[in-house]
Amino acid sequence: MKKTFIVFIALAICALSSCNPGKESIYKESRITMDTLVTITVSSSSDTVAKAAVDKAFREIDKLGKLLNFFAGDSEVTLINKSAGSMPVTVSKETLDVIERALHVADKTEGAFDISIGPVSSLWDFHTKTMPEEDALKEKLKLVSYKNVVIDRKNSTVFLKKKGMMIDLGGIAKGYAADRAAEVLKNSGIKSGIVAAAGDIRTFGTRPDGSAWNIGIKNPRQTGDDDEILAVIRLSDQAISTSGDYERYFIKNGIRYHHILDPKTGRPAYGCRSVSVITKEGVFTDAFSTGVFVLGPRRGMEILKKMGFDGIIVDSDGNILMTEGIKGKIEVKGNKP
Ligand code: ADP
Ligand code: MG
Repeated sequence: MKKTFIVFIALAICALSSCNPGKESIYKESRITMDTLVTITVSSSSDTVAKAAVDKAFREIDKLGKLLNFFAGDSEVTLINKSAGSMPVTVSKETLDVIERALHVADKTEGAFDISIGPVSSLWDFHTKTMPEEDALKEKLKLVSYKNVVIDRKNSTVFLKKKGMMIDLGGIAKGYAADRAAEVLKNSGIKSGIVAAAGDIRTFGTRPDGSAWNIGIKNPRQTGDDDEILAVIRLSDQAISTSGDYERYFIKNGIRYHHILDPKTGRPAYGCRSVSVITKEGVFTDAFSTGVFVLGPRRGMEILKKMGFDGIIVDSDGNILMTEGIKGKIEVKGNKP
């Protein structure tokens, strides 16, 4: 009798506090941060723990957004850019980490990924359909070379060698932020989840039933419905980033001008429609997806193989190329681009 009563009390408390011991459920929240829609999905047995962890992860992304913003007057990136050609700038560990990784990717992509694209990327405006004047483009291109970005780990400084140089971390910051947010979630007791900063997605752990997370890759040429999926890929403990010519672009005289620029010409790269890269860390999937896009399908695929990364490329004719490793994890949908 007594025992039954205790069980009853326990159940009643449980019902009142809506607890569900041991049973994991999904908690999901989206916010606009880093100028983009970020969605965090976590699996947890406690709604309270999930909410607190997700809030902390969003605050981490906000913090990184403030440090790395190319357009804000007071970000560390702006400070570095303003001091180009005059002096090194002391920066946070986070800013140094991103720049260090960006230079590594530049090296591995033969300069196709180059954060010193700033003077050129700022000549383009895809909202107002503004393209650079020929002379201005030629002048600003002279300032683009990642080899003139100097980091000093010991003193935690960054120095741009030439006056007028600017670094633009738009091709790597979101992937890095997704990694950092995933770390914050893990440190807050969350065992599995997804951080999706637009096309830069970091997963960790598995879904509540133990299966991998399903991530959709957009069709770069939507045939009707918005958000039409080209393929679904199963991932756990991996990141995926997609760079596409459909994200920010305008069409003038039948030509598509988009935001992934070839550092050699200062103009959009035309070998691909979209590139998705998969590896452990979002900071690398983000930067390599941009770099491989610039390199084009043939050379891009070679670099992916060399790095041991998985990837899927839709080339400029709509052909789909895949690395061997991705084939068992991907389901390509009906409507091909
Ligand atoms: P998205 O911003 O749509 O996720 P990407 O990750 O491919 O796309 O990044 C594109 C952004 O990166 C551009 O808006 C610009 O800020 C910057 N960028 C453009 N071309 C390059 C390049 N060749 N190397 C490094 N960064 C680039
Ligand atoms: Mg990128």
